[in-house]
Amino acid sequence: MEPVDTLILGPLVVTMDAGERILEAGAVAVRAGKIVAVGTHEELAGCDATETIDATGRLLMPGLVNAHTHLADSLFRSLVEELPLEAWLERLWISEREFVSRESVELGARLSLAEMLRSGTTCALDMFWFPEAAADAALGAGFRLVTGPIFFDFDGPDGVSVEDRTATGERWLERYAEEPLLTPCVQPHNALTVSPDGLRAARDLADRAGTLFHTHCSETATEVRQTIERFGHTPVAHLDELGILDARTVLAHCVHLDDDDFMRLRRAGAAVLHNPLSNLKLGSGIAPVARMLEEGIPVALGTDGPVSSNDLDMWTAMRFAGLLQRGVHMDPVITPALEIVRMATTVGAEALGLGDRVGRLAEGYRADLILIDLDRPHLTPMYDVYGHLVYTVGRDDVRSVMVDGRWVMRDRTLETIDEAAVLAEMEQLAVEIERHAARLEPA
Ligand SMILES: [Zn+2]
Repeated sequence: MEPVDTLILGPLVVTMDAGERILEAGAVAVRAGKIVAVGTHEELAGCDATETIDATGRLLMPGLVNAHTHLADSLFRSLVEELPLEAWLERLWISEREFVSRESVELGARLSLAEMLRSGTTCALDMFWFPEAAADAALGAGFRLVTGPIFFDFDGPDGVSVEDRTATGERWLERYAEEPLLTPCVQPHNALTVSPDGLRAARDLADRAGTLFHTHCSETATEVRQTIERFGHTPVAHLDELGILDARTVLAHCVHLDDDDFMRLRRAGAAVLHNPLSNLKLGSGIAPVARMLEEGIPVALGTDGPVSSNDLDMWTAMRFAGLLQRGVHMDPVITPALEIVRMATTVGAEALGLGDRVGRLAEGYRADLILIDLDRPHLTPMYDVYGHLVYTVGRDDVRSVMVDGRWVMRDRTLETIDEAAVLAEMEQLAVEIERHAARLEPA
């Protein structure tokens, strides 16, 4: 084999490849950002490499895919608590209008990217104002991001009027079309905050640019009731009747579905982005994930933004995704751990249109991978690998992270984000955000 850039020797390799192979003493070779070989230590040990890493005693797996989040929400984490979704959003938007700017969104995004890289997430779908700020933060951090223009029926803090959203979005999609680490998408907020015309315009834009169409859907019972009152259909049926539900549609939440919704989702081939922590914390409910899986609806996993779940940790999301279905169905074998790991890797990547590039450790895939320490009390012994990944491993176990062949965290040190500077800048801004919030409280 030709010389490679990086050779990782000796770890337990969880490939998530087509055969979902687990290699006891495995090896992975990376050249020019791509995985060029996956095999055993013995097979690849003789390979000539610029850098060889002895990863014996560690676990190597694909980087995690956070399929639904709002990166710059980190600016406001824990600012608004103890309110139901609708009232909570209204209150949150007051602070957003005051403090959301191109600069603050980039700061919030860098903060969230640091948190995600530390916990082994290498790819995320982000929805927020100034998507160019998150895009630039991700490109600077060497992080794989799916993001793009958002749609609302009110003038947002980005200064873009409702009438200008499509034209602005079009320019945005052109600008970021050629970035290898960036996957553009189009994202209206939901069916209550964006009119049918707005939803159709967003869909047309996504079709013209050939991107994903991402929106919130059936998150709370209130949202479903109000959508029925206004349009005569549930949110899923509303999108379907507008002709914008298909295999390139990804729907965050889908907590409240009726039989007809299930049928429509199945027929459309749309993917659901499940966010168990946010749904629990906001009291939105528990998504019928076991039934979705049973019916063959692709379910990817996300954390939602750090104001609603307060956390961007995919390990916690995985654990809750598994535990919730078992508790609700009183069935200890429903949604097996492997199914949950798929949601956070292969299925997540497929849902975001990246299934041929990331989510697996396989030849020809981009090298998005994470190394996990196994020599820890809570991880010793390990009889069931997938069970460990879902129910035991935590973010502090992640040692090193590679995105597109580049180490972005090495031995727990972030290589592409000046973490101390980001934290200091955030602390400074937080003082102002808190002072403003205090003035809003009734005396
Ligand atoms: Zn969300």
